[in-house]
Formats: sequence, structure tokens, C-alpha cells
Amino acid sequence: MIPEKPLYEGKAKSVYLSENPDELIVVFRNDMTAFNGVKHDQFTDKGILNATASEFFMKMLEAEGIPTHYIRMAAPDTMIVRRLDMIPLEVIVRNIAAGSMTKKYPVAEGTVLERPVVSIDYKDDERGDPMINDDLIEVLHILPADELKQVKEMALKVNTVLSRFFDECGIRLVDFKLEFGKAAGKIYLGDEISMDSMRLWDKQTGESFDKDVYRFDKGDVITAYRNVLRRILPDGGKKD
Ligand code: 5GP
Repeated sequence: MIPEKPLYEGKAKSVYLSENPDELIVVFRNDMTAFNGVKHDQFTDKGILNATASEFFMKMLEAEGIPTHYIRMAAPDTMIVRRLDMIPLEVIVRNIAAGSMTKKYPVAEGTVLERPVVSIDYKDDERGDPMINDDLIEVLHILPADELKQVKEMALKVNTVLSRFFDECGIRLVDFKLEFGKAAGKIYLGDEISMDSMRLWDKQTGESFDKDVYRFDKGDVITAYRNVLRRILPDGGKKD
């Protein structure tokens, strides 16, 4: 049973308390936002599509030895997760220059980076999620240096696993954002891994299959998200 009031309401997910104090209930909503909430719409099935992708990738990463908050699905858009103390960092891994990187630095969109790059934003909507560095993370007591090292290593391992997988599906993993949290002193991957939080380009055509379709009005975002599931799921995402 989902309680009436959420514990926390994000831009695209609502989090509810569970009867089990170690677990939370995450509902993936149909809301889609961009540019820190300035653009906002709702799309039928969007919650289910992102929940399905997230379930698929969390299971894949667990099998590769990366601890995640995923426990089980309670409904196609509802995930039961381990309750974590979230670390307020957005850990971004980039393989190809795109998005804010090409706005901030002298590098052309589509440039393949010499090696994967980790950059970290401080998660704070009111401050516009500013980029942060290792020194600030330590001095502001956001995370001790050894745990930050662990988080970065986990993010790069996620990149290795996902990049290889997407490549086999004919998709380039351009960049993505992860969030982490802690429970009983252990670091887990939290939040979601979905088309909302990754940039995915078709290997042949360069077509976007991610939230950029919505951000920049490139076409039908639900068709793009369905294309990803069709390519990645063993049954081609037929249940959607
Ligand atoms: P950029 O820094 O270029 O805006 O984003 C880099 C990558 O991280 C993109 O795949 C983007 O979707 C993801 N990302 C960055 N910030 C956020 C955020 O606040 N929410 C979500 N869902 N994804 C983000």
C-alpha cells in the first residue's frame, strides 16, 4: 500500500515510506522537466518506460558487483528500494563531448574524449546544481576523500559496463548522471538510470534517444524512449 503523502517529491519521481523502515517506495511519474523545471510536460507511459530501463540497468549492475538500491518492482512504474542517506552530488561520466561540457569549454559536440571524464555537480536546485571539486567536497564535509574515491571508481565501473552493453545494442553512451547514497556505512548506487539521465546516440545515424529529444524539441520523446527499450530488452520491450 502506497501512503497518501510522499516523503519526498522530485521532478519526475515521488518517494514514499514503506512499512519496512529499511525500504522506500519510488513511483516513476509521467512528468518530464528540463532546464531546472522551466519546461514541464506530462507524457503517457513515460514513468513506466524509465522505471523499466532503471530496473534493467540496476539488475545488470548488481550482477557486475556494483551495489545498488534496487530491491524489486511493485508495479511497472513502482520500485521498492533500499532506504539510503543520499549524498547530494550528481556524478556525471562523459565519453563524448555534449551538453553543458560544450557550452562551458572549448570542445565541439561529438568529440570523443581521450578517456572517460568524471565531473561532479552539487545537487541543489536553488543554486542551479553548481559544479564542485574534490577539495570543496571534503572541506564542506559532503563526503570524506576515501568515500569520494570509491564513488568515482563505482561511476567509472558503471560506465565500463553500460558502454559495452550499449555498443552491442548499436547505441553510443555519450554521458550520464548517477547519484549515490549510504546505508550502514556502505555506498550504494541510488536514484535511477534511465533515458532521463543519459545521453544516447544511435551509432549509425547519431539520432538522440534521450531527454535531449524533449529538451530541444527534436521529435517524439516517447517514441525515442521506446526505441531504447526495443534495443536493450530481450523481449524488445513488448510489455510496454
Ligand atoms: P549536462 O551536464 O551536459 O547537462 O548533463 C550531462 C549528463 O548528465 C546528461 O546525460 C544529463 O541528462 C545528465 N544530467 C545532468 N544533470 C541532470 C539532472 O539534474 N537530472 C537528470 N535526470 N539528468 C541530469
